Amino acid sequence: MGCEDIEKVLKRCAQVDLLSHASVLAWERGALLHLKGAALCFRPNGVEIRCGLCNQPADYYRWVDDLNVVVFRCRVETDEHTIANVPRKWAISLLTTGDNLEVVEASLGRCRSILTRVAV
Ligand SMILES: [Zn+2]
Repeated sequence: MGCEDIEKVLKRCAQVDLLSHASVLAWERGALLHLKGAALCFRPNGVEIRCGLCNQPADYYRWVDDLNVVVFRCRVETDEHTIANVPRKWAISLLTTGDNLEVVEASLGRCRSILTRVAV
């Protein structure tokens, strides 16, 4: 990497095929950089989406760009949700770039990754 800025290098390696299986950690001048995949359909904020009732991995339902949310749906089709009065669909608010967090979007916002910087 030579003298190149490590943050630039990490953003360049923010490829879907790499980050769908692993995240990248780097340490630079007292800060820990963490690059993780955040594909809209699977883990839009960098973490897997699971149903709060069944704890099953959720299925992507739709992206509501205007509201900056992604709607997920529970895979379980039994009456469990009806009985517990818990909806089978729910919205996840998308993280946006802010302090110590940058959303790196590869194409049309769907193939995102998230770069965080934590002082250590
Ligand atoms: Zn469920």
